[in-house]
Amino acid sequence: MDRVDVVVIGAGVVGLSVAAHTVRDNRSLLALERHEGFGRESSSRNSEVIHASIYYPPDSLKGRLCLEGNRRMYDLCARHAVPHRNTGKLIVATTEEEASRLPALLTLARGNGAGGVRLVGPDEIARLEPRVRAVAALHCPTSGVVDSHALMQHFAARAAAGGATLVYNHAVAALERGAGGWVVVARGRGGEEFRLGARVVVNCAGLASDEVAAMAGLDVAALHYRIHYRKGSYFRVTRGAAKLPRMLIYPVPPLDHTVGIHTCPDLGGGMRLGPHDTWSETLDFSVNPSLRDLFFEACAPFLPSLERDAIAPDMCGFQAKRFGPGEPTRDFVIRHEADRGFEGLINLIGIESPGLTASPAIGPMVADLVDAAL
Ligand SMILES: Cc1cc2nc3c(=O)[nH]c(=O)nc-3n(C[C@H](O)[C@H](O)[C@H](O)COP(=O)(O)OP(=O)(O)OC[C@H]3O[C@@H](n4cnc5c(N)ncnc54)[C@H](O)[C@@H]3O)c2cc1C
Repeated sequence: MDRVDVVVIGAGVVGLSVAAHTVRDNRSLLALERHEGFGRESSSRNSEVIHASIYYPPDSLKGRLCLEGNRRMYDLCARHAVPHRNTGKLIVATTEEEASRLPALLTLARGNGAGGVRLVGPDEIARLEPRVRAVAALHCPTSGVVDSHALMQHFAARAAAGGATLVYNHAVAALERGAGGWVVVARGRGGEEFRLGARVVVNCAGLASDEVAAMAGLDVAALHYRIHYRKGSYFRVTRGAAKLPRMLIYPVPPLDHTVGIHTCPDLGGGMRLGPHDTWSETLDFSVNPSLRDLFFEACAPFLPSLERDAIAPDMCGFQAKRFGPGEPTRDFVIRHEADRGFEGLINLIGIESPGLTASPAIGPMVADLVDAAL
């Protein structure tokens, strides 16, 4: 049986960032991914927004890693020519009731350290983004968009250049305890089985991160590691995108732990709207065309030039949440499970939004955990 120092399970943006930051000259590292390439799940089915760290509970890992990830993201995109744009964002109130909720959001944003967020009135909104209708807004200058594929390509290339091996078409099927660590059992597409010894295993399996934790023997229900799927559907603007704002435009968040249906301007000049969020028991990737009216009515109050018949179903993605319907929100889990008797197992569970933004900060955090574990 072959042996390596570190196995990373999952090649989404988080697993790739972990691999890129964890490789060392004197360390063997292998990343296992069940699909034929990287980023085939949540990391390529999202809004591609670089978040400013506004909405998260104070002192949460989500808030802290989002803030640090935002700073690192702009730095790495600039240094490595990863396509991105610092568009800025407006969280727009279209009624006086919505406007009355902005000060509390501003306090939350400031508590999270989000840089430069401020309340703006109609005149300034008209100056910043004349194609929007709003009575008041929060302006978030550090928000932006990033090409998520190019970001993952950057992390994958950096991991490979550092000596990591990325193995596709191999699904981890079991984790067994072995001498000095773990035995990772993986299956290829044809059903052939491989056994690999690893001193440290890092679980970055996204929507299946609870299954991988359970393979190791953790009680995922008791630890609140069970993953619940939250489906986010998008519509694409098929006509008149050039007349829509180039800044990110978000509504005042509804009271359901979502950020609401917002604009997602892409780097090619196109525009998506979304996501519309629903809980889901299955991973069904269809987008319901009858949501058209709902999308139009959600966005038309702040996008006066939007036309009802110029939006069409686009795509959807699934968030890996640690809470289900009616439960309180839960934070990211990023921890070495040694204190629970699982020496050498590092779990990343519930890495939902802002996981893309946070990915450049998650990599170094996990690298520190791996350094301490080896
Ligand atoms: C609709 C939506 C909108 C979002 N918008 C934003 C946003 O605007 N900004 C932001 O910052 N974040 C956003 N997010 C969150 C962000 O996309 C995720 O946090 C991030 O992509 C998670 O990356 P990941 O690598 O953990 O998961 P994934 O990309 O899902 O990767 C996990 C990988 O593990 C692999 N895997 C699973 N099980 C196994 C196994 N047994 N063996 C081998 N491989 C396995 C999977 O195939 C997959 O490739 C959004 C998410 C969604 C769904």
